[in-house]
Amino acid sequence: MKMKYAFRILPAFVAAGMLAGCSKNPVTGKKEIVFMSQEKEIALGAESHPSIVATMGIYDDKNLQSFINEKGMAMAKISHRPDLPYKFFIVDSPVVNAFAVPGGYVYFTRGIMAHFNNEAEFAGVLGHEIGHITARHSARQQTSQIFGQVGLAAGMILSPQVRALGDQAQQALGLLFLSYSRDHETESDKIGVDYSSKIGYDAREMADFFGTLKRISEKAGQAIPTFQSTHPDPGDRFTKVGKLAAEYQAAHPGKYNVNRDVYLRKIEGIIYGADPQQGFVENNNFYHPSLKFQFPVPSGWQYENSPAQFQMAAKDGKSMMLFTLAQGKTLEEASQAVVKNYGLKVLENDKTTINGNPALVMVSQQSEQGANGQAAAATANTIQVGTWLIQYGGNIYAIHGVAAAGNYAANAGQFRSVAQGFKSVSDANILNRQPERIRIKTAQRDATLREVLKDNNQPDGKLDELAIINGMALTDKVAKGSLFKTLGK
Ligand SMILES: [Zn+2]
Repeated sequence: MKMKYAFRILPAFVAAGMLAGCSKNPVTGKKEIVFMSQEKEIALGAESHPSIVATMGIYDDKNLQSFINEKGMAMAKISHRPDLPYKFFIVDSPVVNAFAVPGGYVYFTRGIMAHFNNEAEFAGVLGHEIGHITARHSARQQTSQIFGQVGLAAGMILSPQVRALGDQAQQALGLLFLSYSRDHETESDKIGVDYSSKIGYDAREMADFFGTLKRISEKAGQAIPTFQSTHPDPGDRFTKVGKLAAEYQAAHPGKYNVNRDVYLRKIEGIIYGADPQQGFVENNNFYHPSLKFQFPVPSGWQYENSPAQFQMAAKDGKSMMLFTLAQGKTLEEASQAVVKNYGLKVLENDKTTINGNPALVMVSQQSEQGANGQAAAATANTIQVGTWLIQYGGNIYAIHGVAAAGNYAANAGQFRSVAQGFKSVSDANILNRQPERIRIKTAQRDATLREVLKDNNQPDGKLDELAIINGMALTDKVAKGSLFKTLGK
């Protein structure tokens, strides 16, 4: 089994302890209070990394990985802090984003890699992210967004205790939603221009990429443009970065590369959008082809799938369910881990089988004090949790149904029918479901982008999206022999 398809157990996320001190800013040269020593920064990156990998997964592409390593190390060398232990990764997320963690960890999503149209755009964003590290920008995490965006917030505000169930994944995913002050973003844009120019790229392309981000954000319902949304207005940035790039090139005349074709060849075949092999919902069922199981999704419920967990919640926000991989080698070990991790008091505990798979059912309560390990009488804030632990295919899965204690009985039947609906999948149509991929084609004639896309049987409903992916308008001319992106299996 390929790890990238597994539901993963999240390692404990270690929050950054802050150490204040006074030191010189490596970029500005000014003295300033810094809240973290270099050792602390490096430790933070190293500690966050396993959670990021567990939550999002690493996108497995050796060519692309060696490309970002090569450019990343070249840029690290000319940066203000060449001695940090930089590391560069492509995470397996369709979201269009890039982010950096103090200490030198830089991440690109496969979504943003699919949207770049040349090496210079990539280098500009690389420079921007390295800039956050070298200028020691302190980031705030906007963890609430991850659930807010799909309407699961309702399910998550039942109480702080319910939130604890999702917190580990949320904290790691929160790194996707790092937000900096506007001044820091502006400073990083400038650093991005300098760094990408210094390693030989045309920084005007970085400005163009802000145009792509703006178009993604305007087109609702596809990749979530967080890179853009937590940043200053891309229109402003387009103008500012374009001006900075022109100034840089005027002051340092030379050859600045764009490298379009060579980049497009590198992303041939990259997965675009959600990968159904990591799970998808269809006809009120959640299917996980690579792990070969399914369970029902109650009609009208909202849901969110990530490599670490599948969550769903009723529209009224009064009940939610969480599906994840359990810790432990046996059902007993798994139940002990659940009780300990969530600070639960067990009311019932039974062995059973679910569609032939060994299982353990548990009903427990978590009161406000319960999470701290202190017993407390049930109150209006007490949460009741039904947990089904199911042994299947070499793993133990946990399905939790969560509601306020007073409301649990009303939801128990719904929770039970989801858990008892857990079973294997053998339907080839489900198991063989393949993701869409970027396919690079060559224009066979001088025509518009629309015409060459139609020449390659791209559906009408996808043309607007394809224009954005190509960083062009559908009416733009494509010369015979030039490359462009299409979508295919
Ligand atoms: Zn930024």
